[in-house]
Amino acid sequence: MLQVGFDIGGTNIKVGVVNEKMEIVASRREPFPTGEKYEKVADIMEELVREMAEELNVTVSEFQSIGIAIPGSLDPECKIILDAYNLHFHNVPMKQVMEERFPGIPVFLGNDANVAALAELHCGAFVGSKTAVLMTLGTGVGGGLILDGKMFNGGTGHGVELGHMVLQEGGERCSCGNRGCVESYCAATWLVRQGRKAVIEHPLSMIHKRANGDMKRVTAKLVVDCAKAGDYIAKDIFHLYLGYLSSAIVSICVLLGPEVIALGGGVSLAGDFLYRPLRKMVNEKSFFKGKNQVVPAKLGNDAGILGAAMLKWNAEQSK
Ligand SMILES: [Zn+2]
Repeated sequence: MLQVGFDIGGTNIKVGVVNEKMEIVASRREPFPTGEKYEKVADIMEELVREMAEELNVTVSEFQSIGIAIPGSLDPECKIILDAYNLHFHNVPMKQVMEERFPGIPVFLGNDANVAALAELHCGAFVGSKTAVLMTLGTGVGGGLILDGKMFNGGTGHGVELGHMVLQEGGERCSCGNRGCVESYCAATWLVRQGRKAVIEHPLSMIHKRANGDMKRVTAKLVVDCAKAGDYIAKDIFHLYLGYLSSAIVSICVLLGPEVIALGGGVSLAGDFLYRPLRKMVNEKSFFKGKNQVVPAKLGNDAGILGAAMLKWNAEQSK
């Protein structure tokens, strides 16, 4: 039982063939052809599928399904990519386009964050859970949701935009145009902004020293590392960050009561330095104390491919 899983991003097209043990037995990565029409992207995708079949010494028809994770919104039936801004795709009938190229092989589409949550359900942090939330803390804040043991597409198919729940009325401007979104306070970029401020305002801080007084050298990791090393300014920044993040998590918990909340993305790599105080804060603020586990996501970069390969299974569960 071999399934194909595509993880399409604005930089790369990644694809793998996944077997029944959830192992990636063949994989490819190609740069995304920015500015090209979707037909060109479909040409590349078709070629990659055929190459992998050849590598595995199987016929293409032995692939049971092709799943595609997309960074954008889909129609409610998950047949059409409505908007994927990074790909410059708008109203692309991707399911039909790929099924015409591979007659007899069903094609499934999913929002990439939801698909990553689906992968965590099968072989990652959500194994054995019925209700779980994946929150990715990177340049932005993304999210995927498992409800009742299945991937939840959002009522309108747009995915789950945890990053754009409002945390602070009238707060900092968000990339979506609104103010005070979770993303404005919990993305890695918030740590970078605060670190840059510290370079100017606190010339004696370790952040200033490690960045050599150059704001452009400040990264989220640099701020976290300074906090780990005991710098007071960096510790204050990180503490405030944990305050925002724990509040966002608590809001998710009261709404959904997830058994597990898994964190992914760059910030989540801070390890116990993040998780220990975060769990304490979440528990202190929580309505359902001790009920919601906050853990690291397990699958990292493979989550998109693995989850896309599970889309057929997910569709069958939803019938
Ligand atoms: Zn927003």
